[in-house]
Amino acid sequence: MNIHELFESTLGGEPTWVAHAPGRINLIGEHTDYHEGFVFPAAINHGVTVAARVSPSGISRVFSQGWGEWHGDKEGGKAVLPPHSWQAYALGTVELIGGVPPLEMVAMSDLPAGAGLSSSAATEVAFSLVFTAAKGMEMDPLARAKLCQRSENEVVGVPCGLMDQFASVFGQADHALHIDIRTTSITPTPIPAAWSLIALQSGEHHQLGDSGYPLWRRQSEEGARRLGVPFLRDATLAQVESLRGDDLVYRRCRHIVSENLRVSAFREALIAGDADRVGELMLASHASMRDDYEITTPRLDLMVEVGSNHPACIGIRMTGGGFGGACVALVWKAREAEFIRDFELELNLPGNAMPLRPSAGARVL
Ligand code: ADP
Ligand code: MG
Repeated sequence: MNIHELFESTLGGEPTWVAHAPGRINLIGEHTDYHEGFVFPAAINHGVTVAARVSPSGISRVFSQGWGEWHGDKEGGKAVLPPHSWQAYALGTVELIGGVPPLEMVAMSDLPAGAGLSSSAATEVAFSLVFTAAKGMEMDPLARAKLCQRSENEVVGVPCGLMDQFASVFGQADHALHIDIRTTSITPTPIPAAWSLIALQSGEHHQLGDSGYPLWRRQSEEGARRLGVPFLRDATLAQVESLRGDDLVYRRCRHIVSENLRVSAFREALIAGDADRVGELMLASHASMRDDYEITTPRLDLMVEVGSNHPACIGIRMTGGGFGGACVALVWKAREAEFIRDFELELNLPGNAMPLRPSAGARVL
């Protein structure tokens, strides 16, 4: 079923606006965005699509396939969106944009939720696109990414950084995006044509808000405070050494500061097509998330061990916020099928591999 068929069977007739926003996979640079550091995601060929038209009854209505249905009230008063609910992800940007007419909407997605591929940002960005289209409003992509992040922070209640919304808005076909979160400068970097990008779902789903995410964020912010820097982006590894007395804060900070260094090194290795170095940096990133930041799970660790031992594997690490989710792997394209077959068999995770294409960013269709 495509979005037009879903619209027809749910609401009847045709939508006026259709928008699509991709999910993303992060190649390296985890939990660095909220410290104004560096990240390296690619938008992917899976995402959320929303279709909308002005509601003839004046009552807002949304049906999101797999999630459910929601109605506004007749008075058109401020919608009550329970924090962490799917409605908060979908409709959270309405109030921030302001002046959006009541809409009837349907949404569909081919992104697994809570799997580290940012179905949250894809949902926020796709809905925001139909809201601004319905209002007849131009919105600059950077402003859109920031508005969607604000909605996730304030309406949903997840203190996420800017990476996911940024990747969804600015994605480019066949490229990963080296992003400096502080300056918001983006350097699209091609992924070598002989390399395949694969997400490997662990089957363990996280819930960012409920998980350790806010606590981890506070621990690392405490480290920045003790070092006297506004964000860990501004700290060096030598400075982090002075935190050794408090092992927990020390390790949290060591992850973020070392991860920022790995992002830059990764970009150089990717441009050089240096598969060995790329693999080394991805494994070092995983080890840092496992031992210092402590956001991996035993299953994700096992997946990385199994994947990295396969001869077709260039690099593999957990991707996304952690506490479940997925791994990202780069493998030799000519041996992609062999890698997937062996990996799924050895870990007994049939159907959990998703070959991906780096894709264009969000757009009104
Ligand atoms: P991730 O972003 O890694 O997929 P999150 O926990 O950040 O995981 O976001 C997942 C949440 O986003 C879901 O629990 C749901 O509330 C919301 N969501 C995801 N996809 C949709 C969708 N198609 N329609 C409405 N809400 C969605
Ligand atoms: Mg998310």
